[in-house]
Amino acid sequence: MQIINNIHTYKKYYNTIKNKTIGFVPTMGALHNGHISLCKESIKYNDITIVSIFINPTQFNNKQDLTTYPKDITQDLNILKKYKIDGVFVPEYQEIYQDDFNYQMTENNFSKILEGKFRPGHFTGVLTIVLKLLNIIKPNNIYMGEKDYQQAILIKNMIDAFFIDTKINICPTIRDDSGLALSSRNKKLSDQDLIKAKEFNKILKNNQSIYNKKQQLEQLGFTVEYIENINNRILSAVQINNIRLIDNIGFEN
Ligand code: AMP
Repeated sequence: MQIINNIHTYKKYYNTIKNKTIGFVPTMGALHNGHISLCKESIKYNDITIVSIFINPTQFNNKQDLTTYPKDITQDLNILKKYKIDGVFVPEYQEIYQDDFNYQMTENNFSKILEGKFRPGHFTGVLTIVLKLLNIIKPNNIYMGEKDYQQAILIKNMIDAFFIDTKINICPTIRDDSGLALSSRNKKLSDQDLIKAKEFNKILKNNQSIYNKKQQLEQLGFTVEYIENINNRILSAVQINNIRLIDNIGFEN
């Protein structure tokens, strides 16, 4: 497995793989089975799989969330090695933001609601980093999780809007036995809050009204940022003891 820290080294590596199909999985590390499911899809359909690990500061609107974001690069590299990932791109801030974030990719419509409303600037950070990574890695396929539904749609639409030569593949959300969507931030939950977090998806899925779901979440102690039904998909963000959880479920038409 190649561990690549800078763009120059990636370019040299790219010259050796550019005739093969390249699948790309961007992550912020603290890897779990959700990330691994994306890697497995990439491995299945591409000759080469590249994973990036970069905690992108420009997408964090909350400084505390950034400083407490789980990080375990040694464990991540061991996991990726086990799954026979070909290349891991692990850049530093300076390598990626040579312009110090003076140039930004912004979407002006869908990015302003739901997550965008509660996390100002978040999607500008996300779209900017993904655009940069696509330009560096030059993959045929990118694999994103449906867990971050709004993010996946915004990236899909950015790829279309800018004629980027990469196909996006949106993969199902991986959950634990209770239905809780796997997330790096789950590692920050206390035992007691984890028990409550396991109710989040169950409440989203039950056949109650949005109003009742919100009440049920609040009764459990969640602060509900939003819970909305958009095009037969219920999307929600909640907080418990300052830890933010998001989830969404689609319903058949
Ligand atoms: P992150 O490291 O949280 O930025 O996530 C990297 C990628 O993994 C994104 O495309 C996420 O949507 C995806 N992902 C995160 N959690 C899950 C999950 N539970 N199931 C499937 N994909 C996920």
